Amino acid sequence: MGAGVYNRGMSKNSPKDEEQKMQKRIAKRQAKLEKHVVVCPHCGANVLDHMTKCHVCGGALTPRGYTPMDPKKMKLFKTIGWIVGIAGVIATIVVVIVLNS
Ligand SMILES: [Zn+2]
Repeated sequence: MGAGVYNRGMSKNSPKDEEQKMQKRIAKRQAKLEKHVVVCPHCGANVLDHMTKCHVCGGALTPRGYTPMDPKKMKLFKTIGWIVGIAGVIATIVVVIVLNS
């Protein structure tokens, strides 16, 4: 009997405590999710704010914080990427030639 009391004292978290913790965790997660829930302007369904299309009616949605990428900027980034890539290849070739000569 003494051992039983000892064991009970050792486990800090009773199954009930664990359950409460779990429920708190779930509630927290739901609260987090609810922050991202918006109402579809077309049908009134709950949709997530990052969606571009309503999953209920298929209506177009404007995602929160969504800024369409400027095509000019996109092209510039692509060009820079190309230049950096080509420069890297040329640098590698130059290094190989210098090392071999
Ligand atoms: Zn909708």
